[in-house]
Amino acid sequence: MVRSATILIATANRGKLREVKAILVGLPVHLTTLEDYPGLPEPVEDAETFEGNAKRKALHYAALTGCWALADDSGLEIDALHGEPGVHSARYAGPACDAAANNARLIRKLSDISPGQRMARFRCVIALASPKGLLATASGALNGVIVDEARGAGGFGYDPHFFVPEYGMTTAEMSPEQKNRISHRGQALRAIRPAIERLLTDSSSTAPGG
Ligand code: IMP
Repeated sequence: MVRSATILIATANRGKLREVKAILVGLPVHLTTLEDYPGLPEPVEDAETFEGNAKRKALHYAALTGCWALADDSGLEIDALHGEPGVHSARYAGPACDAAANNARLIRKLSDISPGQRMARFRCVIALASPKGLLATASGALNGVIVDEARGAGGFGYDPHFFVPEYGMTTAEMSPEQKNRISHRGQALRAIRPAIERLLTDSSSTAPGG
């Protein structure tokens, strides 16, 4: 029997929210967002891996709300910088920085690295938790190279400098649909959907809030 559940999508980023909703469409779930729970304390995101942070966030919000919670953590890894900025992607240039400052720091750090050695990847891990514990995780990765010149007005973060050779453009030059089809986050979301479906049909799983 298909059960129904409430899933809190634990992101304040409206772009991500749209992506998640589009990929979970058709599931017998009621989706809520952090806007439905004003004043919730934020989790501490100081794990050393994307997976650690995604799990921590999902467990934190599931415990606080009593619902299933879906959380992601993502970022950019540069091979020549030994995986930097990694889990520090959002605040690479300092605690109060923005995307422009992060990109400026990245390009400065790569100034001695030849174009052939600029391999990079966006990575994303998504975790689903219930108040009782972790239910599922999934991940995705998108390979590219970092280019000095910013190109494109779409996307966010490092997108204007993230060039995908197979498509001949940066992820900031792609339409949202095109980016979702290949992105690290799109891959992770499509991978976690069957896990959610299985959990909903598993009579031994509890689906709180449904
Ligand atoms: P978070 O998952 O929201 O913590 O994202 C961490 C940071 O990684 C973002 O602030 C961006 O700087 C970077 N990032 C993650 N995904 C993308 C993407 O799809 N495009 C560009 N930057 C991204």
